Amino acid sequence: MTPEHNHGGNRTTPADTPTPGPTPPLSAVVLPRGVRRTGLAARPTGASPQPGTARRAAPAPEHNHGGNHATPADTPPPGPTPPPSAVVLPGGVRRGLVALLAGGALALSGCASAGADEDPQVVVTTNILGDVTRALAGDEAEVTTLMKPNADPHSFEISAQEAARLQAADLLVSNGLGLEENVEQHFATAGDAGAERFVAGDHIDVLDYAEGSPDPHFWTDPARMVDVVDALEEALAAVDGIDADAVHDNAASYRADLADVDAEMTAAFAAIPAERRALVTNHHVFGYLADRFGFEVVGAAIPSGTTLASPSAADLEELATAITSTGVPTIFADSSQPDRVMQVLADEAGIDVDVVPLFTESLTEADEGAPTYLAMMRANTQLIAAGLSP
Ligand SMILES: [Zn+2]
Repeated sequence: MTPEHNHGGNRTTPADTPTPGPTPPLSAVVLPRGVRRTGLAARPTGASPQPGTARRAAPAPEHNHGGNHATPADTPPPGPTPPPSAVVLPGGVRRGLVALLAGGALALSGCASAGADEDPQVVVTTNILGDVTRALAGDEAEVTTLMKPNADPHSFEISAQEAARLQAADLLVSNGLGLEENVEQHFATAGDAGAERFVAGDHIDVLDYAEGSPDPHFWTDPARMVDVVDALEEALAAVDGIDADAVHDNAASYRADLADVDAEMTAAFAAIPAERRALVTNHHVFGYLADRFGFEVVGAAIPSGTTLASPSAADLEELATAITSTGVPTIFADSSQPDRVMQVLADEAGIDVDVVPLFTESLTEADEGAPTYLAMMRANTQLIAAGLSP
């Protein structure tokens, strides 16, 4: 019962940690007795590749506010001008201001000319879409990602200052489909005030995780990401100050990268026997991947499209039954979420399966295995293939 890797800074060892919060007490979870792993004697243990082996894991700085531009003179784009007390500066500018105050005239002279080049501003909710947007925008825009690495896209929040900046952005990019539960209202407000919006979920073939409830996790299918790239390319190219030809070149290059990943995923999953292409996760996140590559989603500890729900005892019992009846050798946890529930199932309910964390909902820091969308997809593909292959 060894987690394959531990890339989450806040990861706790489930065996050591009592389950706080809404998780039902173990005594409330009724599980079948005598449950054991079936038909897995030949399965190698501890052989999963590390996510860090993924190629092209280029660092992706989360905030690209123009780096050295300590530009307090950075003029906000046209639009409603907030009162002086409410003027909000991007993080890089704030840092620059601190340097300015500390460094005095020297810093000031270095800034005077930097304010002149105003790159178009693109603000993105999730770090997955932030990475994709940055790949397309290249040097043509400043792309600010609001969601931090290793965060939960369902529950992350933004500051009042970040919210106030949204109206001044040239383009607002979000996932939609109900993903960003605490941020969508701010984007909607900015959109109502005239800011351009791009909602990725508007450009894909949407699946429901349950009747009438759209599944927001489209990125687990790289083909759907291509659909998003096609649409986002046009949205970026239409922004004033962005060289459309550069964006088209960047998009063509990125589409080629996505095609490579798609081919790698297709080959890796095809090698898993059909009866083993079964996914159990602690949160319903792989519906699109399953749809695309012929997996069955056996169950999720949180049978919902959002992590903001809690599993009931009945949910866990149902899941345990599903796991044992299908004989899946490995169940998967979200790296951005505590895998406590899954470990509880595996360790204490007598179900002998491995729990492998995947990068499902968030990119990581540069050295943690999934700093880019492409690296994330490659790492997950290797882990899923290793976990489910005989
Ligand atoms: Zn999710």
